[in-house]
Amino acid sequence: MATRKTVLITGAAGFLGSHLCDRFIKEDYKVIGMDNLITGDLRNIEHLFKLENFEFYNHDVSKFVHLPGELDYILHFASPASPIDYLKIPIQTLKVGSLGTHNLLGLARAKKARMLIASTSEVYGDPNVNPQPEEYWGNVNPVGPRGVYDEAKRFQEAITMAYHTFHGLETRIVRIFNTYGPRMRLNDGRVLPAFIGQALRGEPLTIFGDGSQTRSFCYVDDLVEGIYRLLHSDYAQPVNIGNPDEITIRQFGEEIIKLTGTDQKLISLPLPTDDPKQRRPDITKAKALLGWEPKISRSEGLKITYEYFKSLPEKEILHKDFTYYNK
Ligand code: UDP
Repeated sequence: MATRKTVLITGAAGFLGSHLCDRFIKEDYKVIGMDNLITGDLRNIEHLFKLENFEFYNHDVSKFVHLPGELDYILHFASPASPIDYLKIPIQTLKVGSLGTHNLLGLARAKKARMLIASTSEVYGDPNVNPQPEEYWGNVNPVGPRGVYDEAKRFQEAITMAYHTFHGLETRIVRIFNTYGPRMRLNDGRVLPAFIGQALRGEPLTIFGDGSQTRSFCYVDDLVEGIYRLLHSDYAQPVNIGNPDEITIRQFGEEIIKLTGTDQKLISLPLPTDDPKQRRPDITKAKALLGWEPKISRSEGLKITYEYFKSLPEKEILHKDFTYYNK
């Protein structure tokens, strides 16, 4: 019998981290989850604690990370990831992307592990080209409210590439575009949970600006498949993973009204500073290198996600406080 490979997943109790834990458990890896639970929630991985090939550490990766034993892969997914979160905890956002990444690269080197980092379409900022190919350098305001996230992620890419070229470390960089699905936090402020939460509470859906800005939403299972393939590829340059099906936020609001059957209307609120006007991944590279493209349509994915949010306890649906964290 082949020995089980071991993977460390940071941000394991978060939305993407928990889905990655599930996938690697399914592929018979030993999974070590790590999270400091600032924005993560242990309920997302509760079902894994009974397994002998799952372990969990409550740890902040911005501080020195030590793990006993062998490690084959590190997936660094710890980070606040919604504009509301990184406005509330800007310093932690900067630290986990910079110091946290540095610590984990050091661990990867010590263990001779391959490291994949979760980068983001935010490295393109408010893009002047659409769709965004990996070769586009971006249009980022370093001192605006989104700068703490965007620049942490850009630094993360730079230091990861430096470890690759200077130390010969095996590294992978995924640029993740807007992703949705079960286990998103209802109150994280992102557009999909915001709209579904509003529909469930019988409130109007809040469109920021005139709603002409676009996004392209990828269902989480598609994203996880792309990440799994990228990790096992031999490509160290950044790869976009996302669904190129682009939609305006106003159209998206209308879709949610239809999906939820709410009698509420769309209302306009001011557009946040530096809110990107357009976003759509160019996935030519992922298709060619990984044979990957998304399979789940928005209507299919939204139905599953709506069922998940509906199944949450009523007091959670009614709880609107964006400032709420586990600790
Ligand atoms: N948005 C909105 N209403 C909301 C929340 C967000 O119109 O209640 C808009 C936001 O201004 C942005 C888009 O929806 O243009 C996506 O926002 P999100 O926070 O989900 O992620 P982003 O892609 O901006 O990081």
